[in-house]
This record gives sequence, C-alpha cells and structure tokens, in this order.
Amino acid sequence: MRHIAIVGSGPAGYYTAEAAAKTWGDEVRIDIFDRLPVPFGLIRTGVAPDHQSIKAVSRRYEKTALADNVRFIGNITIGRDIEIAELQSLYDALILATGAPADRTLPIEGTHLSNVFGSAAFVGWYNGHPAFAELEPDLAGKNAVVIGVGNVALDVARILSKTSAEFAGSDIVGHAFDRLAVSNLERITILGRRGPHEIQMTPKELGELLHLERATPQVDSSDLPPPSEDETLEPGQRKSVALLREFAETVADKPISIHFDFFANPVRLVETNGAVSGVEVEETRLEGERAVGTGRTYIVPADIVVTCIGYRSMPIPGVPFDEQAGRFTNENGRITDGLYCVGWAKRGPTGTIGTNRPDGYGVMERVATDIGNSGDKPGRAGFDVLAKERGLDIVTFRDWQEIEKAEAAAAREGAPREKFVDIEQMIAARGGPSA
Ligand SMILES: Cc1cc2nc3c(=O)[nH]c(=O)nc-3n(C[C@H](O)[C@H](O)[C@H](O)COP(=O)(O)OP(=O)(O)OC[C@H]3O[C@@H](n4cnc5c(N)ncnc54)[C@H](O)[C@@H]3O)c2cc1C
Repeated sequence: MRHIAIVGSGPAGYYTAEAAAKTWGDEVRIDIFDRLPVPFGLIRTGVAPDHQSIKAVSRRYEKTALADNVRFIGNITIGRDIEIAELQSLYDALILATGAPADRTLPIEGTHLSNVFGSAAFVGWYNGHPAFAELEPDLAGKNAVVIGVGNVALDVARILSKTSAEFAGSDIVGHAFDRLAVSNLERITILGRRGPHEIQMTPKELGELLHLERATPQVDSSDLPPPSEDETLEPGQRKSVALLREFAETVADKPISIHFDFFANPVRLVETNGAVSGVEVEETRLEGERAVGTGRTYIVPADIVVTCIGYRSMPIPGVPFDEQAGRFTNENGRITDGLYCVGWAKRGPTGTIGTNRPDGYGVMERVATDIGNSGDKPGRAGFDVLAKERGLDIVTFRDWQEIEKAEAAAAREGAPREKFVDIEQMIAARGGPSA
C-alpha cells in the first residue's frame, strides 16, 4: 500500500489525486489537506462568481473526493498545525498543491494607502475567502483604476461595473453584493504598460464587456496599431485585438465607462488625506517587447486601485523556496526526496484550470517512478494518531457536503449559494464534530 499526502484541494490537488488513484487503484490511500474547511481552492475563491459554468468543474472533482481511498482533511494548515517533516515521516510521497495565494506587490510609492488592494485580496473579498471578508473597499468615489491586462483585471473591472440584476444566478457574497449595489463608480480605467497586442485577455472574457447593462468599454483608437499588423498574431489574440478595435468604435452612452489606457506605466500612487486619489503614470513606447518610459507623465484619478499583476506562493518552513520566482524550488515538480509540488505552487500563476491536469498526471508519473513498489510508511493511520494527540479539528468531505447544503439553503433568491465567509461559521454548519 502506498500513502500519498497532497497539500491543497484546488484543481492541482484534485487532478493529482485522480492521477494517483488511476496509477495504483486499490493499492493507494490519498489524503488531501486544506487550510480551509472547504475544498476546491480558487474554483471557489478565485473564479468569478458570475462564471458559474466554470465553477461547475468542481463537480468533476467530487468523483475523486468521494472514492473510498481518498480523504479530504480540511481546516489543517500545513507548516502550522503539522510540520512538513512530520507529514514526510508518515507518507511515502508528499505533494504541495498550495497554489499562489499572495499578491505580487507593485514596487512603487503609495501601495500602502487606504483603498489600494491586490487582486488576491479584492477577488477574495467578493468571492468569500475568509481571509479577506473584512476588506471593506470604499466604492463611494467615481474613479477606479485596475492595473494589469490579464483576465483577472477583466474580472475585477466587470464585477465593479455590474448592476445587482446582472448578479442574478451568481454566488457573489452578500457583503460584496450590497456594497456594489450602492457604488458610485463612473469610470474604471484599466492600465497596461504595453500595447493592445500585448494583452493577456481572452476573447470570451473581453467580449463580455460589450454586453454590460450600465458600462461601455472604451479604447483610444490612437493606441491601436495599424490593422495589418494584427495578421502576425495567433488566432485567439487576433480575436481579442479585434474586440479592442470594436471598443474604439463603441459609443460611451452608459453611466460607466471601462477605459483601456495603454502604454501607461504606473510610477506612483497619489495620496490625499491618507487615501489614494490618483495613479501617476509614465507614457511608454515599445522597444521590441519592452515598454520604455518616455519621461512624459500624467495622473489618472483613482478613488480605488486594484492591482492585478500576478501572485506568489507562500513559503512553508522547511521547503526550499525560490524568492525571485515566488514559488517552491523544484525540478519538474520534484523538490527533494519524497517531496513534490504541482499546479501554481510549481509553475507560478499561469495557465487555466485545465493546465493543472497534465501537470498533476506528470508529477504523479515522477512519484510512481521514484517510490516504485515501496510503501512502508504508516500513512493515514499515523496521521490520525497525531491529529488526536494534537486535538486538531478536522473537516471531512462529508462535513463539507453539510456546509454546502447550509450555504445553498441560505442563498438569496436565484443564487446557488450564500457562502460562509467565516471559518467558525463554516465549521458550525457541518452540524457537529467529525467522526
Ligand atoms: C481571480 C482568478 C480567476 C480565475 N479564473 C479562471 C477561469 O475563469 N478559468 C480558468 O481556467 N482558470 C481561472 N483561474 C486560474 C485557476 O484558478 C488556477 O489555474 C488554479 O486554481 C490553480 O490551481 P492550484 O490547485 O495550483 O491552486 P489553488 O486553486 O489556489 O489551490 C490551492 C489550495 O491550497 C490550499 N493551501 C494553501 N496553503 C496551504 C497550507 N499551508 N496548508 C493547507 N492548505 C493550503 C488553499 O487553501 C487552496 O485550497 C483564475 C485564477 C484567479 C486568481
């Protein structure tokens, strides 16, 4: 019997568990740990609440989660409640699928000001991550600035601009729904250091901006390269740039404009009375792939700023960490003997949910080669003894199903669920301690 521990129950964790179950069938026991009492990582707390069809991928993980040889062990933080070395002594292989939950910080003056947020925090706030439930962004001003030109920036701009009616069928949490309903925003500026050809926004997500009830996307036509240059782009990117061209032709006849400001590098956040009031940007031009400053600056008014410039993994004591790359030091998923990583903890914050599948299968192939037929560790029985000694309050997958039922029962009309945003409430909703 092999005993595998996976830390993190997001897509990478579940695909890896699926691969382990396929590799060894009944000859493996898989324990999936998560620091939250609820599973699925960014499927729950990252993927936009108005994109329910994407969130539904978690149903696929249920098949793995409910298999007899797979266990979800929620409410346990590895590196705090249990040390890495302890898990290594119990399991034949330990795979870190802990994602990249921390914001990369923009290295400019003023990011400490109030009403400036990273996307992990801001998205976590509207998506019910307990760590960010208390964020209380102030949406009373007219101007928002979103820094970054990826799909997360699009999510943030779209959520900021939607009416309450447009959240029908979404699972945006109540505190965000209520606050957004009374927002005074009139202009959302998306800042990009480089040009339209360099965006990392996919056509489907970009196209949604054309169908918003009270917002219109806008692009300055002077920022667009000659149309003939689009022919060099790969088809998906060409579609995205075609949409930007459409935005340049769109009449701004709705109360909110979502304005793309290209060739604009933020150099400083401007303060008024301790809060952010603007973003000073330097105009840039492209030299090859690089944005180079021109020395000309201007101020974009900003009552709230959300930076969407990427994520970093969180170090865990005892695990080699690459500070520069912001992820665990690894060679193709292998960290050291018996210790591996997968998903965003391995690759950094790139790719879609689906990218984590081949990643999980690839890492499991390595594990299989490395541990072969050996498998003499105590595994889950050993963990259970340790958990009891330490008085750890574990949340199981069956408990999660009770929490899920309680969330569904609390949903506002038309919504699939009202997420608990407090860990104690989640635990209470399981209806009694786990067996
Ligand atoms: C805002 C946002 C929107 C996105 N939207 C989409 C989209 O629409 N479509 C798409 O294809 N992709 C989307 N993605 C990308 C997708 O979410 C990722 O590819 C995927 O979630 C990465 O999976 P992961 O398992 O590596 O990490 P995660 O999903 O982050 O899972 C990591 C898990 O590890 C747990 N954990 C962390 N540290 C510890 C610890 N010390 N002990 C125990 N547990 C721990 C966390 O609680 C979490 O559950 C989005 C990403 C973001 C940030």
